[in-house]
Amino acid sequence: MAYAYDDQNIFAKILRGEIPNDTVYESEHALAFRDIQPQAPTHVLVIPKGPYVSFDHFAAHASDAEIVGYIRAISEVCKAEGVTLEDGDGFRMISNAGADGVQEVPHLHVHILGGRPMGRMVA
Ligand code: 5GP
Repeated sequence: MAYAYDDQNIFAKILRGEIPNDTVYESEHALAFRDIQPQAPTHVLVIPKGPYVSFDHFAAHASDAEIVGYIRAISEVCKAEGVTLEDGDGFRMISNAGADGVQEVPHLHVHILGGRPMGRMVA
């Protein structure tokens, strides 16, 4: 199945400034903002600015600059939230993709969760 990006998804609207968000970090290639329904003291979503549905879509089609910019943005968010192993007690990074991954918003995002022990992952 081909990748099909829906530019009416919520995060596309956030990127266009059509929906407000609580931005914690922004760069040329990425935007990070707090999840509207936080599951942990730190719950930040980090998205690339390009039109990518999922991590596999991004990895296959993004430029090297976009990929490096996105990874750096994730790193900067972890540092700013104080959850790195250098400054804090760690974090969980999750990216859901597609139907089996139970992805709600079809624009690539990673969830950065921290500030409490996450518990063992079972699925
Ligand atoms: P997914 O299930 O796609 O991995 O996660 C989507 C996440 O986006 C959910 O955790 C949900 O709470 C969050 N979310 C959905 N709509 C909005 C919104 O309008 N603003 C923000 N900040 N987060 C949203």
